[in-house]
Amino acid sequence: MIQIAKPLLGKEEIDAVTEVLNSGMIAQGPKVEEFELAFSEYTGCDYTAAVNSGTAALYIALLAHGIGKEDEVITSPFSFIATANSILYTGAKPVFVDIELDTFNIDPERIKEKITSKTRAIMPVHLYGHPADMKAIMEIAEDNKLFVIEDACQSHGADCLGKRVGSFGTGAFSFYPTKNMTTGEGGMLTTDKKEIAEKAKMIRAHGSKVRYLHEMLGFNLRMTDIAAAIGIVQLGKLEKFTKNRQINAGILSDGLKEISGLVPPVTAEGCSHVFHQYTVRAKNRDKFAAFLKKKEIDTGIYYPIPIHRQPFYRDLGYKDFLPVSEKTVEEVLSLPVHPGLSRDDLQKIVEASKEFYAKD
Ligand SMILES: *Cc1c(COP(=O)(O)O)cnc(C)c1O
Repeated sequence: MIQIAKPLLGKEEIDAVTEVLNSGMIAQGPKVEEFELAFSEYTGCDYTAAVNSGTAALYIALLAHGIGKEDEVITSPFSFIATANSILYTGAKPVFVDIELDTFNIDPERIKEKITSKTRAIMPVHLYGHPADMKAIMEIAEDNKLFVIEDACQSHGADCLGKRVGSFGTGAFSFYPTKNMTTGEGGMLTTDKKEIAEKAKMIRAHGSKVRYLHEMLGFNLRMTDIAAAIGIVQLGKLEKFTKNRQINAGILSDGLKEISGLVPPVTAEGCSHVFHQYTVRAKNRDKFAAFLKKKEIDTGIYYPIPIHRQPFYRDLGYKDFLPVSEKTVEEVLSLPVHPGLSRDDLQKIVEASKEFYAKD
């Protein structure tokens, strides 16, 4: 089976973990700090705070900006549930804005009509590894005095107008095993604001800077040195992983572009796409996915239900009709693009797709 995702871990990661285990310092320690510095450098952000998941990074980013009850945060309904849930955890209300047909990201044109006196922030998602339209979003945020919290959990290293994602506002990254780089579980908050970074570091450690002095309500959301040691090695390999994802995507697009039932992904001008997923719009999507499965090619539907249509959001009273998102969930299919694929694998995916649509 050609898998849809596969973490690439080698001897370097095993050695790095062994070193931490032998050191006896296995919780948050010097490796976390080293990983934070390396990630600052990579993203071009002045400050970083490592945490134990991408969800935690999103949640802490909101808390560090003082967002809570009575506040509204504008976000995309076409994402993993964690995006909107992180807003709910703070007591604030997620307000959904429909997406662009081509990039799958929040449509800046539609943001303005959802801004109210309660709006405090915009949380764009750089879905599948493609940056949201940060030029337009930053302009809207400035005009309306809103914070920007970027869900960069799928877009490590992607850039937009020469700036890396996560460096426009406050960024949140995930290192879950299926992401472009991994620490097992893990996350990172990125920011250029010293006070946000300091608050984030307090929130992740029970509200304390100095041990046993608690200045605010916090949690235990820390990353371990075991995870950070893996992260340091993975970050060193990220550029190569990304390059391979982009090469793989190029091969797929070359092979698929002539097929009339498929719309390959686009890269907007001024952006780089890091292809966390290679997602097509497919005619007869479910039949196509089943056909590929029979050919031992795994695919994924990210995501089959938009967040505002999830049962639990329905129960909260969401009744939005967001036509682009609702059409998109019926059409998207992600094909394998990860850096562990061989040329043979890619050729198989192209041939199988041609075969399906020739009959279809
Ligand atoms: C993975 C992901 C998250 C959550 O990250 P975890 O590390 O799994 O908590 C949030 N948003 C998006 C878009 C993601 O893909």
